[in-house]
Amino acid sequence: MASRLVKLAGMALGAGAVGALLYAERAHPLRKQMRKAAPRIARNVTMGAACQAAIMAAEVPLTERIATRNAVRKRGLSGLFGGGVPGGVAAFLAMDYGFYLWHVATHKVPFLWRFHRVHHVDPDMDASTAIRFHFIDMFVSLPWRLVQVRASGIGPRGLAAWRKFFLFSVLFHHSNWRLPWGLDEALSKHITTPRMHGIHHSQKPCEMDSNWSSGIAWWDHLHRTFRDDVPADAISIGVDDPLAERDIHLLPALKAPFVAPPALRELP
Ligand SMILES: [Zn+2]
Repeated sequence: MASRLVKLAGMALGAGAVGALLYAERAHPLRKQMRKAAPRIARNVTMGAACQAAIMAAEVPLTERIATRNAVRKRGLSGLFGGGVPGGVAAFLAMDYGFYLWHVATHKVPFLWRFHRVHHVDPDMDASTAIRFHFIDMFVSLPWRLVQVRASGIGPRGLAAWRKFFLFSVLFHHSNWRLPWGLDEALSKHITTPRMHGIHHSQKPCEMDSNWSSGIAWWDHLHRTFRDDVPADAISIGVDDPLAERDIHLLPALKAPFVAPPALRELP
């Protein structure tokens, strides 16, 4: 009974946080939106629902099985730290760093870019952009996700906590919320902020090739891929290629990875 109450309170807290974020990005917008919001958000939510179904069908059962074995056998990076809190923290950081590496790969490997491009094609950015992915991408990224969970040694509780952190983080940094400058600057030393991730969604390759972090921002600082020198209103969001306008829409976006020429965006 008590655990059910805790679970319900957690869900209410999560829903409240997401609601507050959706309110904040409308009350304090960071970028001027260029397109009609309703059809764009409807497309993104539809794509997000397909992704969630794919994640529930494949990623969740497989990663939970590995995480349960991690906890029993005390293996992976967490095991090297002796498990417990130090092991849990190490595993959490390793999961997040694994996402940084994967994100770089999705831009640099042409096959992976075909799928990740569907996310970047969105011509405006708000919290709904965070869930705009091709559902096949959830299967394409699955082997790497299994490696992340196995190598980090994260346990079931750590995995559940990391999932919540990651979901809220992607909604937050894709949002169109203008934080006070000082706060954004201070936060971007540690976590990915909306201003920071907006630069990554620029059409200009030199700006897109920065700010790859999806949660903790330390990896961008470590790899010197952090940028905060582009004002939000100087950024054209989206992808600069001849088929971008077509692939904004739902069906073309779903077909795009399979029909697009390999170098849609000429890699730098
Ligand atoms: Zn990206």
